[in-house]
Amino acid sequence: MIPLSEAREFVLSKCKPGPMVTVPVDDAADLVTSSDLAAVGPIPPFDNTAMDGFAVRAADVADAPVTLEMIGTIAAGGAPDMTVGEGQAVRIMTGAPMPPGADAVVMVELTEMAEDESSVDVAESVPVGNHIRPTGDDVQAGQIVFAAGTHLRPAHLGVCTSIGVYDIPVFARPRLGVISTGDELVDGPRPLGIGQIHDSNRHTLLALVAAMGATPVDLGLVPDDEDQIRTAMTNAADSCDAVITSGGVSMGDFDYVKKVLTEIGDMRWMQVAIKPAKPLAFGTVNGTPIFGLPGNPVSSMVSFELFARPGIRKMMGHDEPLVPSVPALAGADMNRGPDGKTHFARVHATLREDGRYEASFSGGQGSHQLSAMAAANALAIVPSGDGIKQGEPVDLLML
Ligand code: AMP
Ligand code: MG
Repeated sequence: MIPLSEAREFVLSKCKPGPMVTVPVDDAADLVTSSDLAAVGPIPPFDNTAMDGFAVRAADVADAPVTLEMIGTIAAGGAPDMTVGEGQAVRIMTGAPMPPGADAVVMVELTEMAEDESSVDVAESVPVGNHIRPTGDDVQAGQIVFAAGTHLRPAHLGVCTSIGVYDIPVFARPRLGVISTGDELVDGPRPLGIGQIHDSNRHTLLALVAAMGATPVDLGLVPDDEDQIRTAMTNAADSCDAVITSGGVSMGDFDYVKKVLTEIGDMRWMQVAIKPAKPLAFGTVNGTPIFGLPGNPVSSMVSFELFARPGIRKMMGHDEPLVPSVPALAGADMNRGPDGKTHFARVHATLREDGRYEASFSGGQGSHQLSAMAAANALAIVPSGDGIKQGEPVDLLML
């Protein structure tokens, strides 16, 4: 067995950030920027009002209540064609540019307009700058809004377009092929014959890939047949940026994935000191990274979290491929024996009143018991030894 860190370093050494490309803003969600992004102009681009109300000179309302002459209206999108002089006011709508001369806004709730709209009563005084959003208050012209390596979430995309950038320099979104292998697997809601089971891994893995912001490519089911596995793996490596297979990498007689990948790829077969997901096949076929995950449904998911996720994150350009663990307390005993492996227990963590997580097993811990994975929101990292007692600290890998 090799330590988890060694297996992971090997995986990361073969996963390279994708090519730098420029994509339309609406295709950039969840990608990572490949260069700094600077604002051409300031945001907001002009002084504007944060409230519906009246643009005034603060000095004119210092002795409020006062009555001011109303000289016009500016809507959002309008251009002021007046200057506010002494004793004057302009009706103004949220987002509209401030008219020259005015230095404050009185919100509409503190005013009463004459019926003929020739004047307005202002009930209270306001300070200079009141309710004004000054030019550049959010972003200054020339400012680097996002450094290279920024993970683009929805707000980032909004900032890009607000500075007029509609094409974003990013690391390309990787295409991840997902293949299930095994003669026993059946796809679709068909009745099962003797010895058959429905393929669950492919659907889980496709969804995990999609949730990360990579592009999942469903490459279907392949039976335990050498030729078909060879064809499927070669095509997958040629058509995708990385490939995830499950099944056929352990010690069974019909584990042809191992045989074929050894032949056509540069693979390393690892026994990692973890439970579940001890067997891991990883390497490259024609330069394309191939993750050979174990077949047991829980193992394939845990293996995805520990190896595929960091590898894909690196391909996507994340500076830090590993997801940090979160400190918690054991809500119940997590018993185990010393076996030299780190256990990744399926747990459900709840937030306590003191703001700390408390985690307990979410169900059966067999590597075939996928329902416990569905009930889990984290994996508890339980090091080799006699386990963790209720109330003791435990680190969580949040799912
Ligand atoms: P293997 O790694 O091929 O030896 O498979 C280990 C276990 O996982 C066996 O019980 C398989 O039936 C099961 N298994 C393999 N692939 C899948 C899959 N795609 N969906 C559900 N179970 C699977
Ligand atoms: Mg199999």
